[in-house]
Amino acid sequence: MTRTPFIAGNWKMYKTGTQAVETAVALKDMTAEISGVDIMIAPTFLSLPLVAQAVAGSNVRVGAQNLYHKNEGAFTGEVSAPMIKDSGAEYAIIGHSERRQYFGETDASVNLKIRAAADCGLTPVLCIGETESQRDAEKTFNILDKQVSDGVKGFGSDELNDLILAYEPVWAIGTGKTATADQVDEVHQYLRNLITRLYSKDFADKTRILYGGSVKPDNVKELMAIEDVDGALVGGASLNAESFINIINFRN
Ligand code: PEP
Repeated sequence: MTRTPFIAGNWKMYKTGTQAVETAVALKDMTAEISGVDIMIAPTFLSLPLVAQAVAGSNVRVGAQNLYHKNEGAFTGEVSAPMIKDSGAEYAIIGHSERRQYFGETDASVNLKIRAAADCGLTPVLCIGETESQRDAEKTFNILDKQVSDGVKGFGSDELNDLILAYEPVWAIGTGKTATADQVDEVHQYLRNLITRLYSKDFADKTRILYGGSVKPDNVKELMAIEDVDGALVGGASLNAESFINIINFRN
């Protein structure tokens, strides 16, 4: 089974609307001739419709960094899945470790968010990953098992609209520390087997599993060469179009 590589940029809380559009247009131009790779950028909510409009019809897709699980209501400050979808986004990053760490997200809230995304046709990018102390305590696989199983609890494979998993060891995010190829290989194989156990081999074979954590132009090739790595979720190195295009062009 060949899975099309998926390279995603998480722009976190960076860039004004003007700056986001500028980078998005640069990426759109640089990726005009590219094929064989799916590209997604996730700007802030505020920039989402502007960026979606700027890249419409190009090779660049757009995603949200989060969502609230209710469709509408008195939830001051929140943004819903249908609103995100209407802005032109096709993906939603869910359960990023910064959301879990700073905004109290849990596997249960992640599950509700995946439900909201799936119900309105947004593809969820479910982020999972262990902290350094969990790895040191040899709890990595238990943590990942729970994050995935609870995250997709109650879903049939037919409801998951191309679920994408992003393995992001928390200790490697924004730290410059990348997991070794052996560590990534071991975890991605584990995740593929876990999806097989939860669903089926067919579903696991088509589920893309991304690696995230200090991915840069100079380490992406080695990471993408690992059999069960189907793409990358990139933070810092996606903010600059030249750096991100070098990651998107990982084959060169
Ligand atoms: C991320 O935000 O998902 C991420 C992996 O960040 P960075 O690439 O900066 O480590």
